Amino acid sequence: MKGVKKAAKLGIRWKLITYFALFVAVILVLLWLFQTVFLDSFYKAIKTRNAQACGDSIVSKINSPNLGDYINELARQNDVCVRVVNGEMRDLYSADISPDCLIHHYGTFQLFLIYNYTKENGGMRFETVPQTQYQSFYSSDFGGQEIGLYPFSGGDLQMGQLTTGESAMESLIYSRIVKTEAGQEVLVLLNSTITPINPTVQTIQVQLALITIVALLLSLVLAVVLSQKISKPIIKTNNAAKELAQGNYEVSFEGGDYREIRELNSTLSYAASELSKVEALRKELIANISHDLRTPLTMIGGYSEMMRDIPGENTPENAQIILDETTRLTNLVNDMLNLSRLQSGTQTLTLTEFSLTQEIREILARYNSLTKRDGYHIVFDYKEDVTVEADQVRMSQVIYNLVNNAVNYAGQDKEILVRQRLKPGFVRVEVIDHGEGIEPEKLELIWDRYYKVDKTHRRAVVGTGLGLSIVKSVLEMHSAKYGVESAVGEGSTFWFELPLPEYLAQIDESQQQ
Ligand code: ADP
Repeated sequence: MKGVKKAAKLGIRWKLITYFALFVAVILVLLWLFQTVFLDSFYKAIKTRNAQACGDSIVSKINSPNLGDYINELARQNDVCVRVVNGEMRDLYSADISPDCLIHHYGTFQLFLIYNYTKENGGMRFETVPQTQYQSFYSSDFGGQEIGLYPFSGGDLQMGQLTTGESAMESLIYSRIVKTEAGQEVLVLLNSTITPINPTVQTIQVQLALITIVALLLSLVLAVVLSQKISKPIIKTNNAAKELAQGNYEVSFEGGDYREIRELNSTLSYAASELSKVEALRKELIANISHDLRTPLTMIGGYSEMMRDIPGENTPENAQIILDETTRLTNLVNDMLNLSRLQSGTQTLTLTEFSLTQEIREILARYNSLTKRDGYHIVFDYKEDVTVEADQVRMSQVIYNLVNNAVNYAGQDKEILVRQRLKPGFVRVEVIDHGEGIEPEKLELIWDRYYKVDKTHRRAVVGTGLGLSIVKSVLEMHSAKYGVESAVGEGSTFWFELPLPEYLAQIDESQQQ
């Protein structure tokens, strides 16, 4: 656990350096292994494979009339010596490209021995013979005279006293017995010289040591440069983010010459602009709420004081004003609570079947006194009673808010029309007034919380600025369409279309299928 914590604390620079160093170390270890440890075996394996391939291709052309030319060409290209002898060990073809080739020093006796060993071995044989054996034998023991006697491993004439050190040159001898078309048995001999690679390995080791130092230094420099390039914009962004956290929404997130950091910066810029909007909204909200709360409170305070101090002012009318203001305050607080509950998403709908038409009738009945006293004329136009499946309390709130707005913003004629029409799949309700209307560019905004077209808070038009936002939230929860059509000076039509129970059932069914 401690180790993990420590690793997490490492900065990008140290992480990069560590990774680079690890990477270089792995590459170098691989290089060391392949260039020094396995080089010898690789080299021998390749040589053996090559010798076998040459031998095989000679065997495949053994009946060709141009075999001699072919053997010469092959020997030259692959740096091998070739000898093809018949059953009496007489040369049929020979390609002697190097004095180091042992097979050309073989006499009849050795050839017979090789022939026998090859036969015992199933017709093909590979042998690696140290070159030193031949040379010492050839030069010192027989006074420089080539005696044509060569001891090879497995033979009776093994020469134990001669060195076969690793650094010595070796001969790779391939022998194969084949039958020609004429039924004659021939022995194909191929000699490939394996030069000692120890000096090469030593050179490579020195080079590798140098490469190791250079690579480590380079990786260090690269890691430092890279980490600086990568970490610089991150540090810059981090500092800007800290400023943002402290409330500076004007801070700019820019820079970075790679995609990820640019994307991060643009995301943070977006977050900053959204935060600043929220902040502006919060300020406006507090200003609005405090204004809305203060107005009725001032009225209540003022009237109460007046009724207490001034004789004769303790009238039912004044008491009514206090009551009205109290109702207004209660409404405001209720609206605020409702909306925050609706918008928090914690509120669920309680669906029941009820008559929407009856609900509208009851709401309009509340305005009876208003219509009688102030001359308002509210007409409900409907053809049939419509039953809906919805949240009754919330839907009545929607209708009430729309009618209330229509009353508040009604025109000189004080006429309000509520129209209910049954359409295929839904019921459409319209609340129409002939008031001042709403300017087209404001139409979108009126559904927002606390939005009021006229911010001067006229006493005649009393609103919380929350009504339409509650309407919007409730209708959206019911998957109802809604909208407004309005013309300045002519009036507004607020409408919604609530899906009917049968229709909802159909949708459910089709969704399940
Ligand atoms: P309020 O409580 O201020 O009426 P609403 O959310 O109900 O708040 O309405 C938002 C704004 O939309 C109102 O302030 C008013 O400017 C405008 N508005 C709403 N209904 C009407 C209407 N029937 N005619 C004209 N303007 C309207």
